[in-house]
Amino acid sequence: MNEQEINKVSVVIPVFNEQECLPELIRRTCAACALLPMDYEILLVDDGSSDDSAEIMAAAAEQPGSHIVAVLLNRNYGQHSAIMAGFSHVSGDLIITLDADLQNPPEEIPRLVSVAAEGYDVVGTVRQNRQDSWFRKRASRLINHLIQRTTGKAMGDYGCMLRAYRRHIIEAMLHCHERSTFIPILANTFARRAIEIPVKHAEREFGDSKYSFMKLINLMYDLITCLTTTPLRMLSVFGSVIALFGFAISLLLILLRLFFGPQWAAEGVFMLFAILFIFIGAQFVGMGLLGEYIGRIYNDVRARPRYFIQRVVKHSSSSSAQDNQ
Ligand code: UDP
Ligand code: MG
Repeated sequence: MNEQEINKVSVVIPVFNEQECLPELIRRTCAACALLPMDYEILLVDDGSSDDSAEIMAAAAEQPGSHIVAVLLNRNYGQHSAIMAGFSHVSGDLIITLDADLQNPPEEIPRLVSVAAEGYDVVGTVRQNRQDSWFRKRASRLINHLIQRTTGKAMGDYGCMLRAYRRHIIEAMLHCHERSTFIPILANTFARRAIEIPVKHAEREFGDSKYSFMKLINLMYDLITCLTTTPLRMLSVFGSVIALFGFAISLLLILLRLFFGPQWAAEGVFMLFAILFIFIGAQFVGMGLLGEYIGRIYNDVRARPRYFIQRVVKHSSSSSAQDNQ
């Protein structure tokens, strides 16, 4: 269990063309954080906005006594990369991520902090009465289902970015060298104690979703590849099934041909199909084999920490160490 005290909270918010939301976001987030019993900072990461977002953020950060830190990226890297950029600059013990569009109410921050203070490494959230389109809801339900099946971890809502992570989880994530990440899943792989709490979810008031259809597809691939290399393995499974099917059919055809004669077998045309199936299957098996190698190369290239030690307990002292390699 991790009972470390929380002395400072860092809030990380990725911003991409959100100039309409920003003033209210800053006002509400500052107001919510001011209620916290500890120190706090608010990191706004500009993900290469083409509107006035960067100027608004910089101006807010430059005000005397401001708790805001503006991190400006040179171009658009995507929500999760922007959050990672923010992570590399946090100084708090507990880090909270949040969307800039006010769909995640900043007023939930104190609640996340108090739940994390109970000793959780990761506090996730499940959106209540989710205010998204039918298509988005269906798509995310499908993805949730997939994630639960592959990770075995029952996490209700991976899409909601209103989350709290302990400092050591952030450091472990910064040790991952992969270029495309899906933060909630990555965090869960390093968490020992995780919990989910229900939070409110509001409709987007200003502007439109910053995810185009292509960006959503990209995000889905990031999510799947962050999670698993199983799809590559599925190629061999799929191939084996086809090859077995072809083999079974050819056996059946040979038997029937012996019984009913060459006329029945259409002079061997069906047999050709059966043989074709066997070859197609063999091809997939070959591709799956390649996939196994690629999967291993991929795992080596992204060089995730091999393991993550959360705490070492020794007899003589009550020292606790966090290490990852
Ligand atoms: N965002 C970003 N870079 C991008 C796309 C989005 O930093 O390329 C930010 C965006 O400003 C917002 C958050 O990620 O703070 C979530 O984006 P959005 O609300 O558009 O996604 P949705 O709610 O539709 O999933
Ligand atoms: Mg949104």
